[in-house]
This record gives sequence, structure tokens and C-alpha cells, in this order.
Amino acid sequence: MNSIKLSGLADKLNQQMASLAPQERLTALRQALPGRVVFTTSFGIEDQVITQLIASAGLDVAFATLDTGRLFPQTYTVWQETEARYGMRIEPFYPDARATEDLVRAQGINGFYNSVDARKACCGVRKVEPLARSLAGAQGWITGLRADQSDHRSGLEFVSFDVQRNLLKLSPIFDWSRDDCLRFTQEHAIPVNSLHGQGFLSIGCAPCTRAIAEGEPERAGRWWWEQDDKKECGLHFSADGKIIRPGASA
Ligand code: SF4
Repeated sequence: MNSIKLSGLADKLNQQMASLAPQERLTALRQALPGRVVFTTSFGIEDQVITQLIASAGLDVAFATLDTGRLFPQTYTVWQETEARYGMRIEPFYPDARATEDLVRAQGINGFYNSVDARKACCGVRKVEPLARSLAGAQGWITGLRADQSDHRSGLEFVSFDVQRNLLKLSPIFDWSRDDCLRFTQEHAIPVNSLHGQGFLSIGCAPCTRAIAEGEPERAGRWWWEQDDKKECGLHFSADGKIIRPGASA
């Protein structure tokens, strides 16, 4: 499907989404796209909700995860528990070995603390490039983004046309709160990362995530040593933290 068709389809789907339930949104995307649709999970509470929604509807969606090599042990535990619960294998994508060796040789094993550029270089090797491989040939990408995770994310939409990757991106629980996710996982006895109960609301790589204090924004624990309020790893935004829109220069 070419970019003009995908862009038009994004607008059409987006108009429907607000009135649909999350599982209906997933089904609508799946029915609208003839090609491969991928859900990338990092096993956070939002992704656990979406896993349940996809699995219980029996949708033809590929599951993928990015193992950066720097994840918490608790994340591997919930990964294994999720595969066991749903009786499936989640396809892992790893950083390119040579690129990782070059990165660590150049900046040191924890070089990402030294500058924003060094941190973005690490995210580039360990996340952005593996993500590109996980989405190769896909027409649809499902993510667990929520509007109230940050002011920055509130500027997104249910469905957007990802101009760089030439696919439609759906955030089926974009309008859910964290409490909605919590309630859903409890009602369905869904495994969740035990770190959530220790103040880690948003969980990424271990050296780049800390627990947050009461009243802090949800994503305050990510790259906590940086001052920029638009901290992202380059998966959903351009390298300078801007939302990528059709027609915008990236
Ligand atoms: S979150 Fe930290 S360790 Fe993980 S890829 Fe980014 S900079 Fe590297």
C-alpha cells in the first residue's frame, strides 16, 4: 500500500477510533490492512493489557520485543510468564553485535550517562535499529502509548501514519489512564512486571530507569539525569523529540 493510501486510511480510521472499545480498535486496524501487523511489547502494564486484548480476540498480529541487553531481571521474568500464559513465543530482536561492540568500545559500558548524544547513540544501536528490523515489511504497528503518560505524548493520536516507516501506527489504549490498565490487569489476572509495585511506573533499561516519588510524572524515572522534558528513545519521535507527521521534515 503506498504512502498516499496509508495516510488517507489513517485519517479515516482515526475518525472512528474514539467511539470504539480498545479491542474493536485493534480489530478495525487488522481488517483495514492486508499485510503484516506487529505489536512491539516491552512488557509494561499497557503492553500487558494489549497482549490480552490481541490474544483473546485471536487477531493475526505478530508479537515482537526489543531485548537491549540492559533490561531488568524482572522484565525477563514477566516476558517468560507472558509466553507461558498465552502459549506463544514473542519474537526477540537484539542489537547488532558489531554495532554494540563499536558503541561500547567508543563510549564505555555506561557511556550513555556522559551526554545526550551518547545516550541517543546507545538507544540508536540497542533500540531504534532493532525496531526497524522488527517492523520490516509491516503495514501496521501497535503500541501501548497513552495520552496522559506525558504532555508530549498527549499530542499523538489513536492512529497515525508513520511517514519514516511507511506504516500505520495504532495506540489502542491511547485514552486509558494508568488506573484503567491496573484495573484491567487485575480483573484478568494478567502477569505484570513486579517493579511496577516498587515505584517503577515506566520501565525501560535498568541503568536508565529509576523509581519515581509520589506526585512525579510517570516518565520522570526514565533518563532521570537529563533535563529535557521531552525525553524519548527515538522509537516514537524523531531524534530531536518531535512528533513525526506526514509532510513534516524529519
Ligand atoms: S535506555 Fe539506556 S541502556 Fe537502554 S538503549 Fe537507551 S541509553 Fe542504552
